[in-house]
Amino acid sequence: MPPTRSLPHLSASGVNQFIGCRLQWYYERILQLPKPFISPALVFGSLFHRLVAETLVVGRTPDLEAIRAQWTQQLEHDTVRFDTKDDPAEYPALAQRMLDAYLAEVQHYQIECFEKAFLVDLGLQAPLVGALDLIERTPDGGVLIVEIKTARASYSDQKLGHHLQAALYSLAAEELYGQDAVLCIDLVTKTRQPKAFRYFLDHDPIGRQQTRALLAAVEEDMLTGPIYPNKEDNFRCPNCPYNTPELCQSWHG
Ligand code: SF4
Repeated sequence: MPPTRSLPHLSASGVNQFIGCRLQWYYERILQLPKPFISPALVFGSLFHRLVAETLVVGRTPDLEAIRAQWTQQLEHDTVRFDTKDDPAEYPALAQRMLDAYLAEVQHYQIECFEKAFLVDLGLQAPLVGALDLIERTPDGGVLIVEIKTARASYSDQKLGHHLQAALYSLAAEELYGQDAVLCIDLVTKTRQPKAFRYFLDHDPIGRQQTRALLAAVEEDMLTGPIYPNKEDNFRCPNCPYNTPELCQSWHG
């Protein structure tokens, strides 16, 4: 029996990472090895979230110069590894086009809160933690919980139906706001001409039961299951900070 690991909490990103590659999860979240670099997608995603917050909460839409300044500041703070064909200087203009598309193509209700951190007890050994991006209040008093995403393309029905983070946040929303809270994903594409979509997710009690069961199984495996790499067609490997001769490449159990 492998040793039990300590698990202070569960998160959507942690569960996703564990399912995608247990070894990467172990290096990052159990051994807490430093990361020599982070991916542009991560840094760009947080820049876009900040721009949306500034616009919707503060009521000030940043111009290109302000976006460039934020981007430069971010790159000075983080060590980001870009692909050779990737030009870091193009990101601020892309962010501005995406913000324009988001504001033009998605109608918001009354903004109640941006970035609401949560910790919910789902009856497992560790609580589920995370942050709800945006909470809106509809005219009839309903609660709309919005997850803001950026991606290279729009989502298919299949991707929406299997969106793990949305499924986990649906559990959190039920605990925090009751069964009537509606969850949706606002998606903005990182394309030359960005498009924005609001996808409403169905209230699905059976799906929630399945997600609870999945989470319990994953937690059990995180605590005592075997750890091994997953290199099979894994999109994570090229940008994995642990893809080095000292770590994953020489892993032997
Ligand atoms: S390089 Fe790939 S297999 Fe190795 S730890 Fe990273 S994601 Fe996992």
